[in-house]
Amino acid sequence: MKVELITIGTEILMGDILNTNAQFLSRQCLQLGLGVFYQTTIGDNYERIYNAFQLASQRSDLIIITGGLGPTEDDLTKEVFADFLGETLEVCDIQHEKNIQYFENKGREMAPNNIRQAYTISNGTTLINQVGLACGLIYTSERTQGRTDYVVLPGPPAELEAMFLNQVVPFIKNEILKSESMVIQSRYYHLYDIGESAIAKQIETLITAQTNPTIALYAKNNMVTIRVTANACNDKECDIILSRMEQRLQETLYSPWIGEGEDFTIEQYIIHRCQSLGYTLSAAESLTGGLVQAKLTSIPGASQVVRGGYVTYQTPMKTQLLGVPEQTIQQYSVVSHEVAQSMAEKLRERTHSTIAISLTGVAGPNRLADQSPGTVYIGIAFKDQPVISKVYHFPAPNRNAVRNRSVNEVMRLLYN
Ligand code: ATP
Ligand code: MG
Repeated sequence: MKVELITIGTEILMGDILNTNAQFLSRQCLQLGLGVFYQTTIGDNYERIYNAFQLASQRSDLIIITGGLGPTEDDLTKEVFADFLGETLEVCDIQHEKNIQYFENKGREMAPNNIRQAYTISNGTTLINQVGLACGLIYTSERTQGRTDYVVLPGPPAELEAMFLNQVVPFIKNEILKSESMVIQSRYYHLYDIGESAIAKQIETLITAQTNPTIALYAKNNMVTIRVTANACNDKECDIILSRMEQRLQETLYSPWIGEGEDFTIEQYIIHRCQSLGYTLSAAESLTGGLVQAKLTSIPGASQVVRGGYVTYQTPMKTQLLGVPEQTIQQYSVVSHEVAQSMAEKLRERTHSTIAISLTGVAGPNRLADQSPGTVYIGIAFKDQPVISKVYHFPAPNRNAVRNRSVNEVMRLLYN
């Protein structure tokens, strides 16, 4: 069963509005166990809409069309749809009466064009719009090559969502899925500080042989995620398929994954690991302005680990709040190993934490203390060990990229 979404509206193509209808429908379909294979977006143009319907009818089984049901001349969806099917449009009396009532209640005159919103096709099933004025439509075409279902929905999200949940979901469950309902489930495994291609190589045979479950790899912020997705007739079957693959992954990967689940983050791992070791953390941040502490404290249970810290953004604050000697700053520059180390050391003394992290650097776009943007020093003071620092030269397309890279490197250092 292949689902295709067709969202219609020039404003989506122009980027004026975000295509949240496609996101909503994709997620809903997944919950129903239906895979969306294509998403098409087209402007308000007769010919291109027609072509999109034609292409979809050749490659998809359930086609959900949204937008362009309004009263204005650029709302073409129903006209094109009727022409494409060789049907004629008629007025749905129920919707039309409802709309007349609506305008009467508002004390406004209904424009002649508004009748278009009540257009439907008598060989289909009309979906009355309880929120707005344009009715939707379900149409099933049985042809020799098989059955195709079309669902036409209004563009405004509140109207579409109500219509989909109250009227289309029951139709899909009762008429399309019947007993052959499928379940789709995914599991996520996260590996850290290793390249995507290295993982791909390790599990090459599993990837090449994949059918059900499917395996997908993606990388972000030093983390590689393996997503395994199974479909089966019920949850239990899915579980069996997924567990079997989980075991094969365990046997095949050189090193174990550090976390599971869709929402896993490296901060989560760090906090939990520190918790189990009884470690505490603190941070003194300059260019990141508190981002490291914000990330760490976003994890439930962080209060047992994160003691606190400072944002010492201007140079004098490094002296006033942390006690970094003025002389060190003058001698070595504020962006230097010496200052990063001093910040970490002083912070650890003040907070009595197991690990104190410091950051000083140049987010850009301008140079600072004769250092180029993207130059960042990270200091680490670990209980009973000599303080260390590392220097990074991040490519500096913009401030936020440098700041985010810095945070990621702190997480990598804490991980190790
Ligand atoms: P109307 O009767 O309001 O004209 P319509 O069915 O003709 O409804 P459109 O004209 O396509 O729908 O869109 C109306 C409004 O609905 C858009 O201006 C936009 O705010 C919202 N909308 C339309 N399509 C989408 C979409 N794909 N994602 C999010 N919002 C959308
Ligand atoms: Mg419109």
